[in-house]
Amino acid sequence: MYDVCIIGGGVLGCAVARELSRYSLSVAVVEAADDVCCAEPAAGGIVCAARTLAPFRPAAAKYAATGEKMFRAYAAALGVPYMQTGCMTAFFDDADGARMLAVNARRCGVGCTELTGEEAVAVEPALASAHILRAAYFPNAGVVDACAFVYALRRNAERNGAEFIFGFTLSSAEFTADGASLRSSSGEVVEARRVVNCAGNGGGQVARALGDFIYISHRSGNYAYADVPSRPSMPVFFERAGYVSPDPRGGYFVGADTADCARTVPEVTGAPDARRALRDRAGLSAENAAGYADVRALMRGGDLYEACGKSPCVLHLLGAGAFGITVAPALATAYARSLRAEKRADFLPVERGIVRAAALSAAERNALASREPLYANVVMTDPYVTEGEIAEAIARGARSVRGAARRLLPGRAEPDARFAEAFGRLTEREGI
Ligand SMILES: Cc1cc2nc3c(=O)[nH]c(=O)nc-3n(C[C@H](O)[C@H](O)[C@H](O)COP(=O)(O)OP(=O)(O)OC[C@H]3O[C@@H](n4cnc5c(N)ncnc54)[C@H](O)[C@@H]3O)c2cc1C
Repeated sequence: MYDVCIIGGGVLGCAVARELSRYSLSVAVVEAADDVCCAEPAAGGIVCAARTLAPFRPAAAKYAATGEKMFRAYAAALGVPYMQTGCMTAFFDDADGARMLAVNARRCGVGCTELTGEEAVAVEPALASAHILRAAYFPNAGVVDACAFVYALRRNAERNGAEFIFGFTLSSAEFTADGASLRSSSGEVVEARRVVNCAGNGGGQVARALGDFIYISHRSGNYAYADVPSRPSMPVFFERAGYVSPDPRGGYFVGADTADCARTVPEVTGAPDARRALRDRAGLSAENAAGYADVRALMRGGDLYEACGKSPCVLHLLGAGAFGITVAPALATAYARSLRAEKRADFLPVERGIVRAAALSAAERNALASREPLYANVVMTDPYVTEGEIAEAIARGARSVRGAARRLLPGRAEPDARFAEAFGRLTEREGI
């Protein structure tokens, strides 16, 4: 029997697993898919507490304010590059939007400066053609590769003893005096003293399997990866005109056309309304747009839902909507501390990313290849990928070509046939 079983290997589930692994607790994560970060591969990676301030979502704001402050050190320990770019919310009229944001920011301890239009352009020159009148600037915000962050959380949790059980779709549960017996749709059983529901979009169904009724609505979002020639250096949210944000893997995210929806992922449109609004209202052109679509789970009021179930051994952490990455470090830390378990002396806090041959000098590359011959076998030249890197992605949990590509290829680069062939050969060699 595990001390804690987490349902869902998204950013919240992986962060909770990682923080619990600091303590003398046995931890399992059950995940329906074959890898973590399957539900959020396209997340924008904006770490910005201000996203919880207008409209004000008090539960999320509490964790987002702390999460934003701790993110730089947190990501550094996990070996994930974090760019503290700052973030801006821009207004085209002189009404109270910027002031309201600043008031809420002060209330929550989120760093914020109110700017005039001219001051905003001085901070972010890409806004020169936007004709904005006021802005709220959040200097502590930044951007991270969301999936790299989730992969690193998983790896660190695993290295510290947490177990990840993939292909386990929770379908029912029975409660005993000691905890819960969780059953998957294929009949596998996992027992745990405590259960944490971090199932994101599937959180409502998981709640029902745990005997609770939680109403979750879903919102479809159409976004685009694009080139934005004016090259803003930070995420900028425009009043009623979408947003643009630098993608740490190259290019920009442009969003978003949203609508309430059923659970299915909507048709990909390339966010034409968002791109038109950015062009017409903010004067920013988004070129070479490649669209993607996603669905977010929202609670009533859009706030984070953090509550016990009917059984006191169940905790639901749902509705992280547009701010899951921002709140995850603080939320997971608070939950892990609340269990008051003994700290482990042998916890390994530091993680390193996959060694990238392209980033090494010729001498370093040769030395690596003579130590580990797979690094001598080049699979792709642009971007540069060797078999050694694919083998390392597999060792870190990639179970599909897509999973390996997401760990190794930047931005919109696609794996080619040689990449897929090497992945197939190396997984076979490992008996996976
Ligand atoms: C397009 C997009 C852009 C975003 N941009 C940002 C951003 O810029 N900044 C930010 O902070 N946040 C952003 N987010 C939000 C962030 O990605 C979400 O908060 C996050 O995905 C939710 O995380 P989660 O761990 O709660 O759930 P999910 O990521 O949804 O993970 C839940 C996991 O549970 C699993 N699961 C579901 N049902 C079951 C079951 N029955 N049994 C077992 N497993 C199950 C799923 O397979 C999934 O892996 C964005 C989200 C989207 C969609």
